[in-house]
Amino acid sequence: MLGPVILAASRSDRMRRLISAAPVTKQVVDRFIPGETVDDVVPIIEELTGRGLELTMDVVGEDITTPEQAFAARDAYLALVGRLGELELGERVEMSVKLSMFGQALDGGHELAVANVRPVVEAAAAIGTTVTLDAEDHTTLDSMFAVHEELRKDFPQTGCVIQAYLFRTEADARRLAASGSRVRLVKGAYKEPAEVAHQDRHEIDKAYVRILRTLMEGEGYPMIGSHDPRLISIGQELARKAGRKPDEYEFQMLYGIRSDEHLRLAAEGHRMRVYTAYGTDWYGYFMRRLAEKPANLRFFARSMVSK
Ligand code: FAD
Repeated sequence: MLGPVILAASRSDRMRRLISAAPVTKQVVDRFIPGETVDDVVPIIEELTGRGLELTMDVVGEDITTPEQAFAARDAYLALVGRLGELELGERVEMSVKLSMFGQALDGGHELAVANVRPVVEAAAAIGTTVTLDAEDHTTLDSMFAVHEELRKDFPQTGCVIQAYLFRTEADARRLAASGSRVRLVKGAYKEPAEVAHQDRHEIDKAYVRILRTLMEGEGYPMIGSHDPRLISIGQELARKAGRKPDEYEFQMLYGIRSDEHLRLAAEGHRMRVYTAYGTDWYGYFMRRLAEKPANLRFFARSMVSK
C-alpha cells in the first residue's frame, strides 16, 4: 500500500523540498546513488569492473523545464563519456539516459531530445560503447520509441527499456525482438493507472516471463533487469532453451541492491551489468527505490528519528 503513496510523493515539489533538505537523507541516498560527480564515481567504476562486473551509468535527473537544462544534461553525459574514454573500458561501461532530462516534454520535444541525445550516442560509439534509453511513465513511451528508432538508423546498438507491467509491452517486445534491438526488460517503477497497466504483482511477473520468452526467442539482445530470484532463474532457463550463449544476453541490477547476487552471477560466467546512478538531482530516482521496498522507507524513517 505504501508504494503508490511514495510514488505520488516522487512527483511532488513540496515533498522534494522537504526530503532533500533533511540532514540525514544523504546517508540513505548514498546507498543507491554513490556520488554527485564523475570524480566520485570513477573509483566505483574501477572497483566494480575490477571485480568482473559491467556497468551502465545514469546521470540522475528528469522532468526538466527549460532547454538550458537539456543542454546541461547533454554536457554532463559528454563529460562522463570523456572520462570513460580515458578509462578505456569500451562496452563494459555503457550509459542509460532518461529522455525527459533531454527535453522530451518541452515544445518541439522530439527534435530537442534527439538533438541533445545524439551527440552522446555518437561520443559513446567513438569510445566503443553505447546508450540505453530508459522507460519513464507510459505517456512518454511513443516518443521514446520514436527517438530509439531514429537513433538506431545510425547507431543500431542503441538500446531501450520496456516495462512488463504495461499491457502494450507484449506487442512492443515482439516488434523490438524482430528488429534485433538491445532491450532491457524491467517490471516497471512508475505509478500507472489500471487502464494501461497490470496492478497485481503476480500478473506483472507472469507478463515478465511471457515477454522475456519473446525476447530470448527473437533476434535481439535481451537484458534482464530484475533482482527477483525467481525471474533470474527463469531467465537462465529461457536463455538455455533458446540456445543463447553467455554473451548473447545479460543480467542487470541496480547499484546498492542485492550486491552479493551481482558477484555471484558474474562468478558463474554471466554478463552482469550494474546500473549506477550519480549526480545531484537524485530525488525521483531515490523515491522510486523507496517505493519498491517498504523496508527501505522504515530504514529511512528510523534514521530521521534517531538523529
Ligand atoms: P521486485 O519483486 O520488486 O524485487 C525483488 C527483490 O529485490 C525484493 O524482494 C528485494 O529483495 C530486492 N529489491 C528490489 N527493489 C529493491 C529496492 N529498491 N531496495 C531494496 N531491495 C530491493 N524501471 C522503469 O520503469 N524504467 C527503467 O528504465 C528502469 N530501469 C531499470 C534498470 C535496471 C538495471 C533495473 C534492475 C531496474 C530498472 N527499473 C526501471 C526498475 C524496475 O522497473 C523495478 O521497479 C525494480 O527493478 C524492482 O523490481 P524487481 O524486478 O527487482 O522485483
